[in-house]
Amino acid sequence: MVTHVVDETLFASTDPVTLRGSACADCGAHVFPAMASCPVCAGVDVTAVALPTEGTVWSWTTQHFAPKPPFRTDEFQPFSIGYIDLGPVIVEGWLVGRTTWQIGEPVRLVLAKAWTDAGIDVHTFGFESMAGGETP
Ligand SMILES: [Zn+2]
Repeated sequence: MVTHVVDETLFASTDPVTLRGSACADCGAHVFPAMASCPVCAGVDVTAVALPTEGTVWSWTTQHFAPKPPFRTDEFQPFSIGYIDLGPVIVEGWLVGRTTWQIGEPVRLVLAKAWTDAGIDVHTFGFESMAGGETP
């Protein structure tokens, strides 16, 4: 089954789901999404890398109002956005499953439905708690 995603360039793989970042050979910086040059040292010896799929919540917030276009949702409900520390890089992403989080809480990468287009579910990446649906 084909998994439809909001932007294929964000992913190294969708099964298992893995984000595609880039790593600089000159200074070691990792970035997400992948870039053709390094934003830290301006080096161009960068390669695409699959980023770690587990990390911890570095910071988070919960939005209680629907995002304005061009962002879209089919069925709005309050949602959380966080910065996730994956080790070599901190990634901004959707925190799925609940709206209260703890700094340092372990999370794992998942595919989450963003919207439905002509009956086809379109996914983006998100992170879910490794502790389940309850705030620890
Ligand atoms: Zn660099």
